[in-house]
Amino acid sequence: QAKNDGRNITRFFTKEMNAKLQQNKEILADLIKSLTQGHFELYYQPLFTIDNNTLVGAEALIRWHHPEKGMIPPDVFITIAEQSGLIHELGDWVLAQACREVKRFLSAGILAIRIAINISPVQFRRKDFVSNMLRILQEQDVSPGFIELEITEGAVMDNVDEAIITMQNLKDAGFQLAMDDFGTGYSSLSYLKRFPIQKVKIDRSFIAEIENDIDSKSIARAIIHMGHSLGLKVLAEGVETQEQLQYLYAEQCDYVQGYFTGRPMPANDFLKKFTIVT
Ligand code: C2E
Ligand code: MG
Ligand code: MG
Ligand code: MG
Repeated sequence: QAKNDGRNITRFFTKEMNAKLQQNKEILADLIKSLTQGHFELYYQPLFTIDNNTLVGAEALIRWHHPEKGMIPPDVFITIAEQSGLIHELGDWVLAQACREVKRFLSAGILAIRIAINISPVQFRRKDFVSNMLRILQEQDVSPGFIELEITEGAVMDNVDEAIITMQNLKDAGFQLAMDDFGTGYSSLSYLKRFPIQKVKIDRSFIAEIENDIDSKSIARAIIHMGHSLGLKVLAEGVETQEQLQYLYAEQCDYVQGYFTGRPMPANDFLKKFTIVT
């Protein structure tokens, strides 16, 4: 009897796994099609100084308009793109598109702006990563100073020395560098000190719990103060309430991003919202 149950469970999981594999294969095929057919879009979420007065930039967030299934969030397809290697083509498109749109923002008079884009660990570890980025910027005639690269601890921790060289090369080329989702990964403070970055982004899981969880509150405060002592700027992600913003302001966090100050939006909406008509 027990043996029988075991077999059933095995068969059940195998079926589930096969279905998942099949589904991923279909998503990958659709991703490839969508890349040539232009079904991707970048949304832009505004980044402000902590007093919520001054726009300092925007984070570009990819959106996939699946022809049949509608909008599919990045969390679903980025992993599949990474596993298949398609992330390289997708990442190239993201950078080129961000370049095209930052030129639109600049010529509309949104001047003090920088676009932050997310870099997958798979992209970051590629040998020709830096030269490939610079080639795209050159093709688009955009200076690296307008682009901030968001990397995660996962991208740098398995080969720290090599990662530092890549980061230094990016910095020398003129890119700004930010550590994204800080606090969720290895969070090694001693390493952070060695990284040639300018900014740390506190993961939104801590911000969300500021009012309810004393530990999250302490962690957010510790990241701000530690970041400052290392000469870094600190941004809080996922700020949704006035109370969270007030706490971060009191702790002298530098920048804010979140639904409270502005949701991610299409480029046209961003333009409309932030172009100052004179
Ligand atoms: P991330 O880089 O940490 O981006 C921030 C995520 O938090 C975004 O989700 C954004 O919409 C969401 N967010 C911002 N403010 C709030 C808030 O106040 N409350 C809540 N609940 N959420 C907020 P999104 O756009 O779904 O992206 C998810 C993740 O997918 C990103 O996390 C990033 O890791 C990845 N991703 C997005 N675009 C790209 C891309 O172009 N390339 C790569 N490699 N990854 C990307
Ligand atoms: Mg990010
Ligand atoms: Mg983040
Ligand atoms: Mg995140």
